[in-house]
Amino acid sequence: MATPKLSTSRKGKPMHSSVGAIIKKDDKYLLIDRVHEPFGFASLAGHIDEEETEIEAVKREVEEESGLKILSYKQVLEEEVHENKCHHGINIHYWYVFEADAFGEIKENHRETKSIGWYSKEQIKKLKLEPVWHHFFKKLKIV
Ligand SMILES: [Zn+2]
Repeated sequence: MATPKLSTSRKGKPMHSSVGAIIKKDDKYLLIDRVHEPFGFASLAGHIDEEETEIEAVKREVEEESGLKILSYKQVLEEEVHENKCHHGINIHYWYVFEADAFGEIKENHRETKSIGWYSKEQIKKLKLEPVWHHFFKKLKIV
């Protein structure tokens, strides 16, 4: 398994970098129900590995988690998020969040996701979102 890129936060604490892709089609958003902690519904996301750019990482994560390929993308957020612990025990992540168009057939990946599907804003408001995605969706006025 690849190693997440490690850096230091503004205050000198260990920090990983992560990417997320908000994929929208006809007013619905592609969300997964996460197999790994932190649990909850989330956009497609993951760590940036060593030697990888954020663009390479977001393309790889989208393909791993959904089988889709990114057609075009636009960065919509960039933020150091605290109290955002991953299964490696790192508590701070530097996030690059993109809106992306993707194509292809969805292939469920049960190592990474319990389920994957399209949800409207009204449906998303009722889901238990992973905390960091609740934060991003609020910022982007999706919830
Ligand atoms: Zn991490």
